[in-house]
Amino acid sequence: MRNEETRRNLSEIVDYLYCPMLYYWKYQVHGAEQKFLTTLDLPKLAVQQALSIYMEGENSQYELAQWVIFIWETWLKQKGVAQDDVIEGLRGYHEIRYHQVLAPFLNGKTRNKRGKSYVEPRASKAYKERIAYFNLGNIEAALSERTSEALGVVEAEITELNLGKYTVAQAYSDSLIMAANFKPPLPQSVWGTGKPVSVRLAEDLVMDAVVDLISVDGNQAHGYFLDGRPMFYLNRSWVWRRPDLLVLGLMEAREEEEPFPPISAVYYVHLYSGEILSRKTLHVSRLQNVFIMACRGISANIYLPTFLSGDFTRCRACAVRAQCYDREDVLESAFPGAYKTARALESAVHSPAAHAAALELASELTLFDLRGIKSGECE
Ligand code: SF4
Repeated sequence: MRNEETRRNLSEIVDYLYCPMLYYWKYQVHGAEQKFLTTLDLPKLAVQQALSIYMEGENSQYELAQWVIFIWETWLKQKGVAQDDVIEGLRGYHEIRYHQVLAPFLNGKTRNKRGKSYVEPRASKAYKERIAYFNLGNIEAALSERTSEALGVVEAEITELNLGKYTVAQAYSDSLIMAANFKPPLPQSVWGTGKPVSVRLAEDLVMDAVVDLISVDGNQAHGYFLDGRPMFYLNRSWVWRRPDLLVLGLMEAREEEEPFPPISAVYYVHLYSGEILSRKTLHVSRLQNVFIMACRGISANIYLPTFLSGDFTRCRACAVRAQCYDREDVLESAFPGAYKTARALESAVHSPAAHAAALELASELTLFDLRGIKSGECE
């Protein structure tokens, strides 16, 4: 007898793996149609939407960056915050940030003490001094006040290298740098951008995903994964050893109604630098394992918040942290004591003794709840 087919969306899997509680908020409480965005999502979203317009008709005669500006101004108009001072503020901020602050780092004029270029300028003292000199921190804060809430985005943090808050103004500026660096394939060779595809992982397992870009060359196709994380440096070890799940799945991507030839190579595009790496052999079996693991957790209703491990790194970049940190939330009724534990952990981060005590509390809570869930629902 043929097993029933299991079908899930890649974004659900990715959210569950990021934090089971994130999945809970997005899909169990609010419904998948509600978008939860952080400022970290904005650069790629702007480039992706601009790319779809760029690929249409004669639109590619204009620079991709111009379409990115168009997208931002459309978003601001839709949300009623496209006043001249906001638009001019964002443009002016980008001009100064790019030409006066970043350019010396990017063209290699500003170097570290060993005479080498900075891989991540924002982590350097020189960058912070320039930002302060041009008063860009205050300009960012003023622009955030006018735009973040209206756009419905949570101001997240870049947790790598502790780079701190990532504001709407930074996202605007980064998306323009990304668009200027990325050289997309010719529109006539493009099958589609931001289109749904499916990836068969096993006879009875199918993953639905949205692919950033597919181009066709004769009887073969190429899949593109656009990495829009706002990090200057290209982390090759990540691309080669721990590729994004979509990169793994792209090789097997299919579309039934409007088929494209088999994908012979996957291009990983680091949008910030414009560098492109290609992969020809990918092991989709790795994806199958994480897919099964996440699906089982979802079916068993296991939604433990990641902060119970004592690591708040993911929370700082998370779109739903307001819900998780609300005293009256559903988490508190599902896991009584979780809120208090989270607060204790958070305030104890800089005190090893208090941290250890809070972790002990967290481990008791986690074990207790896991036992409860296992006996009730996992079997
Ligand atoms: S705030 Fe933290 S615990 Fe809550 S969903 Fe986000 S990552 Fe998970």
